[in-house]
Amino acid sequence: MLAGLMQPSPLSIASLIEFADRFHGSTELVTRTVEGPIHRYTYHDAHRRAKMLANALAALGLHSGDRIGTLAWNVHRHFELYFAVSGMGAVLHTINPRLFAEQIVYIVNHAEDRWIFVDLTFVPLLERLAEHLQSVAGYVIMTDEASMPETSLPNARCYETLLAEQSAEYSWPVLDETCASSLCYTSGTTGNPKGVLYSHRSTVLHSFCVCAADGLAVSSREVILPVVPMFHANAWGVAYAAPMSGAKLVLPGAKMDGASIFELLHDERVTLTLGVPTVWLMLLDYCESSGQALSHLERVVIGGAAAPRSMIERFERDHDVEVIHAWGMTEMSPLGTVCNLLPKHATLDAEARLDLKVKQGRPVYGVDLKITDDENHELPRDGRAFGRLKVRGPWITNGYFRGEGGAVLDDEQWFDTGDVSTLDPDGFMQITDRSKDVIKSGGEWISSIDLENHAIGHPAVAEAAVIAVPHPKWSERPLLVVRTRENATVTREEILAWMAQKLAKWQVPDDVVFVDALPHTATGKIRKLELRQQFAEHQLPDED
Ligand code: ADP
Repeated sequence: MLAGLMQPSPLSIASLIEFADRFHGSTELVTRTVEGPIHRYTYHDAHRRAKMLANALAALGLHSGDRIGTLAWNVHRHFELYFAVSGMGAVLHTINPRLFAEQIVYIVNHAEDRWIFVDLTFVPLLERLAEHLQSVAGYVIMTDEASMPETSLPNARCYETLLAEQSAEYSWPVLDETCASSLCYTSGTTGNPKGVLYSHRSTVLHSFCVCAADGLAVSSREVILPVVPMFHANAWGVAYAAPMSGAKLVLPGAKMDGASIFELLHDERVTLTLGVPTVWLMLLDYCESSGQALSHLERVVIGGAAAPRSMIERFERDHDVEVIHAWGMTEMSPLGTVCNLLPKHATLDAEARLDLKVKQGRPVYGVDLKITDDENHELPRDGRAFGRLKVRGPWITNGYFRGEGGAVLDDEQWFDTGDVSTLDPDGFMQITDRSKDVIKSGGEWISSIDLENHAIGHPAVAEAAVIAVPHPKWSERPLLVVRTRENATVTREEILAWMAQKLAKWQVPDDVVFVDALPHTATGKIRKLELRQQFAEHQLPDED
């Protein structure tokens, strides 16, 4: 082999914040703090404090490879932890505080977290769990001395005091780029949560993909507000891509309601925001009820669950905000596909554009995709055949932490996403379902996502979920569970008539039930498993 003569500098997370400091040092990071006030500083300040924090971590006796937990919102101190922990060679374990208490205990013990950094909001939660957290030597409360609470947490320290004791002189160690940098557990809708262990290399490569024009096109010209939490797949990589590109970052803290998000979007002149459909519903409803438009916002990235057609329409028609539909998963760092249209789509009419925009999009270089049947035969990329979606690439997991779940790749390195999708000849992928949520009626598969999208288009429907209920003749039939908008009235018959306008007869749900609230997972998705249990005995009306 003739070796190339290029520098072998390892890819590293610390280099992202170093770059932002050096070349975008005066760019702002704005946080709505958990304590209340808006906090502002720059990439230069953030880097300085990350170095002080790295010194503090060393002073706590933490070493490379140690896992350090966080239970924190999108706030500037969490951002500092992202770079200090990984930068010094330790592993940042972002814990999702919305998990069930037993799951938090499970993952802290499984990860063997040495210290936990915790926002004020979650101190009471940890106080209840602390006696079960065997590996944790102490807790750092992410606030200043003035706001330090009385706490029963053993060995509790104050973040600002810890930093104040340290110098900002610190040289980031040169690390092997394949070493672990951060850890994120899947929400475990089936079985225990499983740990996805990212590396410096995978994180930096993924950040390039987030910045790529056909990725999320993050650049120094953007002001970005990630509503998606930093404990959910690293805020979809934005926490790294922002310093990589020098974009201004606006962090919403604990307040994710429509009014609070609107205020930040407006006051900070945010151009790009990202989150799951549930938060956009709150924002759009707030805009509608308060009669305000999203004036500076240019693009909204919707992912984590399918973006309903009506939501895309509302953003684009009422606010002139471009919707970028994206798909991914924790196991993929998380970005897999992004729905950016191609030049040939420029002349499409509004309806045809929407038909494309509801798709989850095309892969960016680095992600390879295919669909197969249950016997692993590849299916055609014709936009009609649907099957198991499989992926491979340098920011996709090789296996879960401590070998949970066994081997997850096949002989050719393909990872089965658990999603069912189509792929069209242009490479646009459309999720039709999670493999466990699809409704198998007779010989046909009915997409629950498709039905939910139609239901949500009805003006009286706020949220909808479609689940399979057992059926003696068809094996399964769809049941539509609906939460209506406040003050809206609608009957079962009206909803079914609405659905029948848009669907083939055999796809129309057999029944509709109305509920006051739908159960959600820790990542904001509807908890279908719970609904299936709740309605397992539901009696479908007799067929006409
Ligand atoms: P969880 O821990 O809840 O599984 P992830 O973010 O890892 O959190 O979930 C990934 C899954 O979310 C995907 O496999 C897919 O089923 C679903 N998902 C993500 N984005 C979309 C999307 N745009 N449309 C439909 N489903 C999506």
